[in-house]
Amino acid sequence: MTLKTFAAAIITVAELPYAYDALEPYISAETLHFHHDKHYAGYVAKLSELIDGTRYASLPLEDIVRQSDGAIFNNAAQALNHELFFAQFSPHPHHAPHGKLLRAIELQFGSLHDLEKAMTSASTMLFGSGWVWLAADGDGVLYIVSKPNAETPLTDGLHPLIAIDLWEHAYYLDYRNMRRDAVEGMFKALDWAKVEERYNKI
Ligand code: MN
Repeated sequence: MTLKTFAAAIITVAELPYAYDALEPYISAETLHFHHDKHYAGYVAKLSELIDGTRYASLPLEDIVRQSDGAIFNNAAQALNHELFFAQFSPHPHHAPHGKLLRAIELQFGSLHDLEKAMTSASTMLFGSGWVWLAADGDGVLYIVSKPNAETPLTDGLHPLIAIDLWEHAYYLDYRNMRRDAVEGMFKALDWAKVEERYNKI
């Protein structure tokens, strides 16, 4: 008798939860085809190759991100970051949170508009490729976190709520060098119901 592992099935490409053209005009079908099918799927494929036969092969993606470094970390974090990124948008987004997330935003940032302004400003200030995050600690306290390359607030013990992808592949086809416009577009398609769902799970 042999012991079977199902490691190969753990890391998969999450399908887009909407059509490729569903987020236009904010994110084009062309961008989503490249971003989801080439860049994101590429990280997943590379990660699967790197962890094959290693102790990481049986771990959930979050644990690989927490425990790895180097190439495995880079590809695992990018796989997870993109899962969070694509899942947070909707063609019919809720434009505001309510309940305890809205209260936390108002308490800490003044208003939802002020939070979006602060995240947009952090996005334009981030040098090179990376991510700007809204994250929360275990008590529900919110943080705007800027991270270079593949890094994620998950490794700081925080819960990622919003992922703003600032790699040029995320926006260059649609916005060229206009990063601020790209981030404002992402906020237009952001579904606060999804963000709230993440916050309420903390
Ligand atoms: Mn990306």
